[in-house]
Parts: sequence; C-alpha cells; structure tokens
Amino acid sequence: MYILVINSGSSSLKYQLLDMETRNPLAKGLVERIGMPGSVLTHLPVGRDKEILAGEIPDHTVAIQLVLASLVQPKYGVIKDLKQIEAVGHRVVHGGEKFAQSALVTGEVMKAIEECIELAPLHNPPNIAGIKACQKLMPGIPQVAVFDTAFHQTMPQYAYVYGLPYEMYEKYKIRKYGFHGTSHKYVSQRASVLLQKPLEELKLISCHLGNGSSITAIRGGKSLETSMGFTPLAGLIMGTRSGDLDPAIVSYVMRKENMNFDQINDFLNKRSGVRGISGVSSDFRDIERAAEQGNSRAQLALDIFTHDVKKYIGAYAAVLDGVDAVIFTAGLGENSAEMRETICERLDYLGIRIDPAKNKVRGEEVDISAGGTRCQVLVIPTNEELMIALDTQELARG
Ligand code: ADP
Repeated sequence: MYILVINSGSSSLKYQLLDMETRNPLAKGLVERIGMPGSVLTHLPVGRDKEILAGEIPDHTVAIQLVLASLVQPKYGVIKDLKQIEAVGHRVVHGGEKFAQSALVTGEVMKAIEECIELAPLHNPPNIAGIKACQKLMPGIPQVAVFDTAFHQTMPQYAYVYGLPYEMYEKYKIRKYGFHGTSHKYVSQRASVLLQKPLEELKLISCHLGNGSSITAIRGGKSLETSMGFTPLAGLIMGTRSGDLDPAIVSYVMRKENMNFDQINDFLNKRSGVRGISGVSSDFRDIERAAEQGNSRAQLALDIFTHDVKKYIGAYAAVLDGVDAVIFTAGLGENSAEMRETICERLDYLGIRIDPAKNKVRGEEVDISAGGTRCQVLVIPTNEELMIALDTQELARG
C-alpha cells in the first residue's frame, strides 16, 4: 500500500507518494503558482524523466486533482488506481497546544486545526485547503494531520512561558511552540539506530540548519527546549529571518524607518538574517562563495551564524546535563562540511571533535566524530515526508 504526503503552502504544494514496504518514494513533485498566472506542475516519477505540466491551477483542489491524475497517468504515472493509496498525510504547521501528536482528521480535529489559524495565519489556511481538497477528491480515504509543533509539546512550562505578564499566555496562548518538529523527531530516531542505543537513554542536540534553522535539545526522545518560539522567526539567525533580537529594536526601527506592522513583519522575516547582513543572498552557497572571494559582510554573516549555532550547542548541553550526540541535518547541516567544521571547532571540552576525513560527506547518514570522543557528531539527512507517512500509516490502520 501507498501513502500520499502533501505539504500545502499558500501558492505551492509539494507531494510524495511513498511505498511503505520499501519506505521509498515512487514519485514526488511540486505545484507552483497556484491561483496565479503561469501555474505549473513538476512531476517526478522516481528513476524516470520529470514531466512538466503547465495550465490553469486556480486553487488547491485543482492542484491536487492534477497531482492525482499524474500519479495514475499511463505514461508517467506510478500506480494503476487511486484506490492503491491507503491514506494521505498532511503537513500542518501549527497545532497549538491542542496537538501533541499527529491526528486522524475528523470533524472535531478539523475544527481544532481551524482554531490554530490565529497562531499561524499564513500557514494553517493553505494546510487546511489541502486537507479539504483531498477529502473531496478521495472520499473515504483516511486523512492524517502531522504538526510541526507537536514534537515540542513535551517542553516543560519553564522552557515555554515567556517573560511577559502571565495573562498573555492565558488570554492569547503566547508561548514558545517550536517548529521543525517532524524533522527533529525523525533525526533523533535515526540517531538511536546509528548509535545502537535506545532513544530513552540518549541526550541529543539536533541542529536543523537550512533556509529556516532550529536547534532542539532532546532527552529520552522528548523535546526539552528548542530555538524557535511563538513563531518560526525566533532563535538562530536564518536565510532571511532575524532570529532573536532585543525586542526593543522592533519599535525603534518602526519609528526610525516609519514602518507599519506589515512592513516590520516583512522586514524581520524576509529582509533580515544572513541576506540582510551580507547583502549578497539568502542562500548559504552564494554567501560562502562571496566570503571566499573576500566579501567581508558575507564572512560576517557566516561568522554570526556559526557563533549562534555554537551558543545553542553550549546552552543545550547545559539543559540536557551533558550530550551524547550532536546531529546535523537539513540543506546546510547535511551538505556543508566547512560549516560543520567551524561550528565544532574548540568544543573538545564537551567531548565534541570531528574527523576532517569523515566530515567530507554530503547527504549521507554518517558518524563524523573522531574516534574515542565522549560525544558523537552525526550527519543525518532529514526525511520529513517519511516521518509524516509513518505517522499516517499508523493512525490510518488504527
Ligand atoms: P528549507 O528550509 O527551505 O527546507 P533546506 O533545508 O533545503 O531549506 O536548506 C537550504 C539551504 O541549504 C540553502 O541556504 C542552501 O544554500 C544550503 N545548502 C545546500 N547545499 C549546500 C552546500 N553544499 N553548501 C552550503 N550550503 C548548502
């Protein structure tokens, strides 16, 4: 049986059809520019040529209709009948405090997801649109919601309540939620396999370093602390997001630059981070290249980023009372040997030392620590789709 995984954004939609026997994708793809001129579907049947389909895609229902048609299309499809799809797993960004686990979508669950819109006004509505489209197009097939926030619901209250009047938490649910939970959960489970130790006995620091980055302290398979907060703007400096700031800066910049709420939001989310500092790009590859060519602001952006990651590793080693393994994942964590090396420099006192030869790795599961160290350093490619599919299969089978 197969599981379809849908990650539905406001104008784009990513999908994967996974064969749960091999745990590998049969096809994956991306719909772009939903509801805009120039909509396009790029469908990739694994091991064969990709198919690009242009046409009008006014909404998520039409997008998913096209995806389903591509999956069964005689030439570039990968299955014969849509009935072979056992269930659909949907990535949902915000589950608030309502979801500490993935959930089979029922009327009640849908209502609860809708209530979380307030917390993620940009993300949850397209996620919901994706679920509704699948319910309409695939009646009777179980739909499962997998939340980015769920894994972090194990954080203790002292880690998630902010230093604001407590009523802010009671009235508006302003607290730390954390994101990338599906990725942190997946890599921590893989770490347990690689280290051949039960998850319950492990203290892990998971560094998801991509365009958006977050770090999580995981003890016994549970998230204890994480760097993102009420929204994914908090924590580390990122591609275009500022990460943590002195909150007084927000009103100061608004006043000085005459910005309204939308403008400051855009400024902090899209024009800041390593892009804002380097003035080069939000893509770390471009920044690394510019730094190599002597661009000092690009070098500064890299230095700030690695310094930030190092600070979190130190802080989370303290939160965990020690650390058995540091995990690097996502675009940058999986691919940039230089970044991993710089981050791990002078961390010997935590038992962290990497082997430069082993570190010459890209997108593979490898222990890159030097022999005899107290703490292992692991590169683990994340696989959020597989994690979503596994949760979906479990819930669909009841
Ligand atoms: P997203 O948060 O969008 O899922 P990814 O996890 O795909 O992001 O990570 C994208 C980031 O990873 C980009 O900034 C990209 O430059 C960086 N990246 C990918 N490959 C490399 C590499 N070989 N060296 C340095 N950075 C890389």
